[in-house]
Amino acid sequence: MQESVQQRVILRLAVPVPLRRLFDYLPPEGLSPESLRPGQRLWVPFAGRKLVAVLLDIVQESPHSSLKPALELVDSEVLFGDGSRKLLSWIADYYQAPLGEVYAAALPVALRKGKPSDHWAEQWLQLTTEGKGLPKTALARAPKQQALFQLLLSDGKQSRTHLKTLGHNTPVIRALQDRGLVEWIPGPTVPAPLPAAESTPAPELNSEQQQVLDSIDCSGFSASLLEGTTGSGKTEVYLRLMQRVLDGGRQALLLVPEIGLTPQTLRRIAARFPKHSIAALHSGLADGERAQSWLAAAGGQADIVIGTRSAIMTPLPRLGVVIVDEEHDASFKQQDGVRYSARDLAVVLGRNNNVPVVLGSATPSLETLHNALNGRYQHLRMRYRAGDAKPPQIHVVPTLREPLEEGFSPQVLRHIGDTLARGEQALVFINRRGFAPALTCDDCGWLADCPHCSSKLTMHRRQRQLRCHHCDYRRPLVDSCPQCHSRSISALGAGTERSEELLARRFADYPVIRVDRDTTASKQALDKLLAPAREGEPCLLLGTQMLAKGHHLPKVTLVVIQDADGGLFSADFRAPERTGQLLEQVAGRAGRGSLSGRVLVQSRFPEHPLLQLLLEKGYGAFARQLLRDRTVAQLPPASAMALVRAECEEPGWAEEFLQNARLFMQSLAPPSPQIQYLGPVPALLERKSGRFRFYIQVTAQNRAHLQPLLARVCAWAEGNKNRRLRWAVDMDAQELS
Ligand code: ADP
Ligand code: ZN
Ligand code: ZN
Repeated sequence: MQESVQQRVILRLAVPVPLRRLFDYLPPEGLSPESLRPGQRLWVPFAGRKLVAVLLDIVQESPHSSLKPALELVDSEVLFGDGSRKLLSWIADYYQAPLGEVYAAALPVALRKGKPSDHWAEQWLQLTTEGKGLPKTALARAPKQQALFQLLLSDGKQSRTHLKTLGHNTPVIRALQDRGLVEWIPGPTVPAPLPAAESTPAPELNSEQQQVLDSIDCSGFSASLLEGTTGSGKTEVYLRLMQRVLDGGRQALLLVPEIGLTPQTLRRIAARFPKHSIAALHSGLADGERAQSWLAAAGGQADIVIGTRSAIMTPLPRLGVVIVDEEHDASFKQQDGVRYSARDLAVVLGRNNNVPVVLGSATPSLETLHNALNGRYQHLRMRYRAGDAKPPQIHVVPTLREPLEEGFSPQVLRHIGDTLARGEQALVFINRRGFAPALTCDDCGWLADCPHCSSKLTMHRRQRQLRCHHCDYRRPLVDSCPQCHSRSISALGAGTERSEELLARRFADYPVIRVDRDTTASKQALDKLLAPAREGEPCLLLGTQMLAKGHHLPKVTLVVIQDADGGLFSADFRAPERTGQLLEQVAGRAGRGSLSGRVLVQSRFPEHPLLQLLLEKGYGAFARQLLRDRTVAQLPPASAMALVRAECEEPGWAEEFLQNARLFMQSLAPPSPQIQYLGPVPALLERKSGRFRFYIQVTAQNRAHLQPLLARVCAWAEGNKNRRLRWAVDMDAQELS
């Protein structure tokens, strides 16, 4: 036979740079092309640097003539399987993001930096041939050795991590090793261990829960909205669903909001699935732990993956179900870099893998509600609280022309006192942290502004500082006016710190626990802070939205919402939706145990129709009304919306760049009923960290009109941008700020 013509082998790689294209390289010198497979990481030279790239394709032709060789394989393992690569390509297309940056965003930091995956290879203990030959009843005189021997005999090889969790210690293992009965072998990575939890049995499902569970078919793709009141037992439904797919040998992915992934949540899940391996993926982990758990998920060793937003991009070779808890939560949307929505990607992932997707919330986003009402998603509902808890009673307390004490009406303070005196707990929700949101001079009207942002500085009294909550600028507190030197300076309004002072004075006999970003640097700190409240002693909790979700505190019978008005008058069309969700979620903290709950909502506008609707009919009716309003106004979800954003330190540059971007887009798609442009307009926070920020809002009747236009404007922007200017396309933008 004739020898075949020498084929060229060209590697097509996703390189982590902000360019919307792939890059071709030759294979590393001395490496046999047979060892190359799509999904592997490789080191490549790029513009004088060394970068970690991902191999996507092996081809024979390249449009580029002088190709450089890649430097070396990072690991022989394929990190991104076919399914994962398909999802990541979808993300790059839909969100107009450079594919290299999408892969970088999918990787945990340690792997992004090029650490080889075998760094986390695990040692596994297995029986030797001799060990396998022993009868089951052997080793009766050494019970610990026998227990380990029997485990290996019945369940097969065990990872070092798992043996440690089960309490099989080194001397016992060593003893069996000395007898030649067991041996260590290298094997796949397992997740970083979670804190141990007592195994707890599942409660009997109530009929609503059972019906919901029966409606979810695990044999193929479906998307469901589970709209269930707070405390209706949604988490229990998730656990059963997970059980079902685990029994079928598949992996379960549970996404939770950033604030929701507390040690309490992890304990609850670990306690239900003591035999399964659980990978937690969140920002509280050390880089090494995170890489380890990610590899265990990607390799298929982890049965359950619980994570925040970015966990959606973890490769999962045996995926069986995707669940998104509190699907309305804003933290599912990435606000910089690759600006994806993990909640929307959950549905794409489910469809790609032909598995069910469940989006759960007591206060569904209008996007998801829209899909459920128009039949695209299955709409499942749970209206009653599980166990014996009853829904709380809600009352509005008018605050206009009332003699308020540091922002609280006398009636509200009286109710707090009564609650504590009965031995119960009260929770006060305040939506800003710090002592006071502004500091002003009574004589000349000076206001403490941030020098880098168009915003005021918040006073933090205990640290004696003024801080910007947008860029973290800090300066010492002043006690005279920098402008006129007057010493009469006032703090305007109240944040958590100021309310804490008042409440601690008023209710000096009880612990007052403040929960906000300043008191809870870590997730463990929050858990610890809440420990006395979980004990059930009478106490007063006050804090920001960190208190709104995830915590099950059965002794809380009174919830106070200090100010309900903020979101009702914002320039952001999503603000009423978010306010409604927050109020309903906070109110849902009341009366979750056997004691019934009461919610007091302070407002200057108790007659506001939206507030009335929310308080009288609940979030469900409120959200449906907002949805009708959005449809009339042709706003999302009745239309598709993207922002083209730009920011620059030079005043005027971002605006001018966007003017040109708009002209370019209009030359391709003139304004019409199908496609509309607004702007450039300044962002709600016009200046942030020293940069002036603008955006153009592009609204289209459907996404098919929007996508190609956005792709073209990205290509245009890559060619026309100034080095000092930052720009981005924000598809399905959630914030106008
Ligand atoms: P949600 O996630 O909807 O807020 P959870 O699943 O946390 O609700 O349930 C609220 C409380 O009710 C929890 O304490 C949970 O243990 C309990 N619970 C849930 N389902 C049942 C059930 N079927 N029987 C008894 N208690 C239940
Ligand atoms: Zn002054
Ligand atoms: Zn600032």
